[in-house]
Amino acid sequence: MSWSQRVGAALDERRRQQRWRQRTLLSVNRAGWLQHDGRRYRNFASNDYLGLSDDARIIAAWQQGAARYGVGAGASGHVTGYAQPHGELEAELAQWLSYPRALLFNSGYAANQAAIGALAAVGDRILADKLAHASLLEAASLSPATLRRFAHNQATSLQRLLAAPCAGETLVVTEGVFSMDGDSAPLAELHTLTQQAGGWLLVDDAHGIGVQGEQGRGSCWRQRIRPELLVITFGKAFGVSGAALLCDEPTADYLLQFARHLIYSTAMPPAQAEALRAALRAVQQGDDLRGRLAANIVRFRQGAQQLGLPLLPSATAIQPLLVGDEGKALAFSDYLRQRGCWVTAIRPPTVPPGTARLRITLTARHAAHDIDNLLEALYDAPGK
Ligand SMILES: *Cc1c(COP(=O)(O)O)cnc(C)c1O
Repeated sequence: MSWSQRVGAALDERRRQQRWRQRTLLSVNRAGWLQHDGRRYRNFASNDYLGLSDDARIIAAWQQGAARYGVGAGASGHVTGYAQPHGELEAELAQWLSYPRALLFNSGYAANQAAIGALAAVGDRILADKLAHASLLEAASLSPATLRRFAHNQATSLQRLLAAPCAGETLVVTEGVFSMDGDSAPLAELHTLTQQAGGWLLVDDAHGIGVQGEQGRGSCWRQRIRPELLVITFGKAFGVSGAALLCDEPTADYLLQFARHLIYSTAMPPAQAEALRAALRAVQQGDDLRGRLAANIVRFRQGAQQLGLPLLPSATAIQPLLVGDEGKALAFSDYLRQRGCWVTAIRPPTVPPGTARLRITLTARHAAHDIDNLLEALYDAPGK
């Protein structure tokens, strides 16, 4: 088979499976609404939970940063790309979350690849929640360590895996808030078991940071644990982009020696780090935004329960409605679009087969009538 035949066959197979993925060009993309093809929709598909992506304070910080430092870092951090704002942001994050060190990455994807890739060696084992994000599972399966997966959020399942002997080190991997289900990991139990086995816990809190816990310090803070490795990302509640890994002093130095994503990649623009410093302050002072989000979650869940909709047990901004069949999930989201509500259908392989769903996300920017409107459309949907 030639390259083009292989590409063509893979595309045919995708279409046949109804798993075709495509991007949609948007002319406006805000936390509460978006615009596509001249039409305005209520946006229930964004991870911009606090609505910070168009926050005037953060935009101004980015503009001032660009005026002062230029628009690009110019090199990797190891060369000449590590500027004042990067250092300040790392120090502020470390202090905020009570870790000795924070290291910036250009994305959460890169942070997970870097941490797992640099740490795991032959003979080690990585024990990951079955529903952990693709970036975590991929890093684990590309690493020389053995990957085993434990049942979603089941500490007893992890305990069984930990009981097996292992010559090398053990890394347990989970998310704080699960991106496609919205439920939270039993972090305290997982951490205790991991520590008893002499391992380390890595928590990816992409969907918890900024939203959960006091001052938005995230799922770990809320559950009163400090995992050995904490990954936070800035593309969701922070409204920007990028990520950080929180860890102890030697681990940070180790990653600066061995994490290829830090060494062979241009550093985040210093102006973006300035914007992130402003986003951090907005998150820290964001109790009113978190309060509005919490009220929206309650309003949605109460309404959906009254309508008998199949909600998953999620207390967070991610409120999936399980549909099951992939074609049906697509038809459902098309119908909601006709009604002016933008909701994404999530299909395998992003979620397990037979669990296609509508991933509804709520933000601080939604008004009560936005949510009521969505509920009405969900209720009216044919063949739901
Ligand atoms: C979004 C996400 C990532 C990837 O972060 P990016 O900064 O968008 O690359 C990693 N882990 C989880 C759980 C996520 O939801």
